[in-house]
Amino acid sequence: MNSKYEAVIGLEVHAQLLTDTKIFCKCSTKFGVPPNTNVCPICLGHPGVLPVLNKKVVEFTVLIGLATECTINERSVFARKNYFYPDLPKGYQISQYEEPICEHGNISIEFKDGSTKDIGITRIHMEEDAGKSIHDMGFDTMIDVNRCGTPLMEIVSEPDMRTPEEAYLYLTKLKQILTYLNICDGNMEEGSLRCDANVSIRLKGETKLGTRAEVKNMNSFRNVENAITSEIDRQIDIIEDGGKVIQQTLLWNADQNKIVPMRSKEEAHDYRYFPDPDLMPVVVEETWRNEIASKMPELPEKRKQRFVSQYSLPKYDAEVLTSSRELADYYENILTITDDYKSASNWVMTDVLKVLNDEKINVANFPISSENLGKLIKLINDKVISGKIAKDIFPELLKSNKDPNEIVKEKNLVQISDTGAIESAVDKILSANQAQIQEYLSGKEKVLGFFVGQIMKETKGKANPQIVNDILKSKLELLRM
Ligand code: ADP
Ligand code: MG
Ligand code: ZN
Repeated sequence: MNSKYEAVIGLEVHAQLLTDTKIFCKCSTKFGVPPNTNVCPICLGHPGVLPVLNKKVVEFTVLIGLATECTINERSVFARKNYFYPDLPKGYQISQYEEPICEHGNISIEFKDGSTKDIGITRIHMEEDAGKSIHDMGFDTMIDVNRCGTPLMEIVSEPDMRTPEEAYLYLTKLKQILTYLNICDGNMEEGSLRCDANVSIRLKGETKLGTRAEVKNMNSFRNVENAITSEIDRQIDIIEDGGKVIQQTLLWNADQNKIVPMRSKEEAHDYRYFPDPDLMPVVVEETWRNEIASKMPELPEKRKQRFVSQYSLPKYDAEVLTSSRELADYYENILTITDDYKSASNWVMTDVLKVLNDEKINVANFPISSENLGKLIKLINDKVISGKIAKDIFPELLKSNKDPNEIVKEKNLVQISDTGAIESAVDKILSANQAQIQEYLSGKEKVLGFFVGQIMKETKGKANPQIVNDILKSKLELLRM
């Protein structure tokens, strides 16, 4: 980026809420059912019907508002946003405009070096989704109105971000909070989290905002970062060529990695917003607000700090383990079986996460139960098996999720701690490797590793490594005399 300029970025995020039913009717929000089956006169906007607000939508929105330190307005109002589009049979979308439910919050983002920055939240409001136009069925455009009336909330940030990285971190953090609250699944690829990026540039030191363009249609976190980067470059080129950025809506084309124009930007007055006469103002009194607040789960930041203090984990471990609520739960469930906090962390951060990444699955689909992984760790700590054998059992667990105690019994993997048995293995290896004994006696202590390796092989990895080491060293020292 040309260093004369600074970018200014504000994000509008739409999050689809995990309610069973729609926002103003009893239709199901279930995904993947035949087109145009989850509908009723209310979500189709037939004349004379009356919408009834889904209480859950209010509770979910208040939760995210509290989690992002917003003011929760005691009174908020639904408004009609009027526009024509084939996937909007009513001809208007019910949203909130002048009086949203939450305002003036913030989300703290953390950079790689540990420093943080607060990004302001302008407002969070409730609204309904529109249907879907389907263009790729080979002929004409098809309309599926199942999604009409699906509850959304829109989270609007202040223009506080300055780099594509900050936007990426903000989105990641927002998704983390939403999924911890269990109010949105946060899946950008499937459209349950959608992000529009407002981007402008200005000369460094300038305090006035430049003209913004709005980029839509990014379907992954990386795409948001890439789209903003390329939009910044596009605007700088325009200014450097003596031109002017015009306020417009643009589309990100992920296949070609480029921005394409969509339409000139509409203005708010084009929508003829007015309070919806069919809906009462939403009133969230203090008692209800407190009741919702009491259901607030531990949020990622708090949980991370607790992992450090309660389990003495390095900050890095705590960060990785609390990256998602499921992973943090999985980790803490292991601790109901073993109190070896650090070993449990190591197993999750290396062995478990490797499988999750390789198989592209999430913890919910991980084949080994937290209980069985806990038992495996306990077997090592109780000195029943060696760490090496545990690593061999792990792939077995991936296949069967059997109780590791059973596997150890069946395959006779119990660690050999019987000194007699280990002694004879040591003797056998020593007598077969006279040359290495001489090397050791002449001061090359490194050959110890060779001997240990051979002895472990001889005992099929089952010898207790500590006892092997002790016996081996004392026998070698005896030879010195
Ligand atoms: P609209 O709904 O018409 O897009 P909003 O007022 O809701 O308008 O603003 C949308 C977003 O644009 C907000 O996130 C805000 O922070 C951001 N924004 C406003 N002005 C600018 C600007 N000049 N540069 C970058 N972002 C901006
Ligand atoms: Mg906008
Ligand atoms: Zn309906």
